[in-house]
Amino acid sequence: MNQPHSRPRLLQVRDLKKHFPVQKGTLRRVVGQVRAVDGVSFYILEGETLGLVGESGSGKTTVGRCINRLYRPTAGTIEMCIDGTVYDITRAEKEELKQARRHIQMIFQDPYSSLNPRMTIGDIIQEPLVIHRIGTPEERRHRAEELLEKVGLDKDQMNRFPHQFSGGQRQRIGVARALSIAPRLVICDEPVSALDVSIQAQVLNLLADLQDEFRLTLLFISHDMSVVEYISDRVMVMYLGKIVEVAPTDIIYQRPRHPYTEALLSAIPKPGVGTSKDRIILPGGIPDPAHPPPGCTFHTRCLYAQEICRTKEPALVALPDNPDAFVACHRYGELTLRGFE
Ligand code: SF4
Repeated sequence: MNQPHSRPRLLQVRDLKKHFPVQKGTLRRVVGQVRAVDGVSFYILEGETLGLVGESGSGKTTVGRCINRLYRPTAGTIEMCIDGTVYDITRAEKEELKQARRHIQMIFQDPYSSLNPRMTIGDIIQEPLVIHRIGTPEERRHRAEELLEKVGLDKDQMNRFPHQFSGGQRQRIGVARALSIAPRLVICDEPVSALDVSIQAQVLNLLADLQDEFRLTLLFISHDMSVVEYISDRVMVMYLGKIVEVAPTDIIYQRPRHPYTEALLSAIPKPGVGTSKDRIILPGGIPDPAHPPPGCTFHTRCLYAQEICRTKEPALVALPDNPDAFVACHRYGELTLRGFE
């Protein structure tokens, strides 16, 4: 994808694939492959927030885990450029991988299970510093105190345990932990999904504030289109292991070009109204990623499918009127789809 921005690219992903073997029988014979991620290419600019959305099973979490090498990709490349040094995350081993990971941190969905219940929050926040051998014990402690205050908690709470905090406070601790080693890229995997709506906004505001202060680049993974709109500069939509649309946030919400994006937008609740009566209910569920449909993989649920959709896979192409926007749909030029009003 070409793009005209002046900011450099922090991350460049090319034709990334992650397939998981399907095993059967006592001999655990491989009888197929689940194509969780099936050839995705994208970039993230320094300092931007890229929202990654899709239903459960779309492959969005797997993309995040490949970037942090929690999963080893099946194919493709992931390159991260930090101050002129390029890390090939796909092929990095041992020391080089550790160096690359020094710049990437994750914030997970569940603040209840992602924090070790037997560690004090002071130790939890300092743990990445210990792993990467950064600072003296005194410096680490000072950094943890500083971060606790940055996320709105009291440094006197350093010796408490996770169960002594609410869900929102625990996610703040997760944010402080992620920031302790001053990463450049933070992968947020459904970071507010487990929180009450009233607390979600507080944690999103905190992330946005800290992004400016710490020069962070965020990959924000969520199934919730309203949360993604709030925090993202650009939004990328995945369906069945592929990117179907990516565009600047205001463009994709006002004028989506892919029928799947239109359906996701129609499900956003409206203030005072709740779920819209115009919500598009897609027929059926997301197909089995071990046996994806031929042609456009969305054709089994698409309200606009035609014969070509069942046989020919649409390429992800730049829109003629906006080189920052890309869509994979044979009919994008003739459809007028509904945005979020
Ligand atoms: Fe629907 Fe066809 Fe476009 Fe796929 S290519 S999204 S089936 S109209």
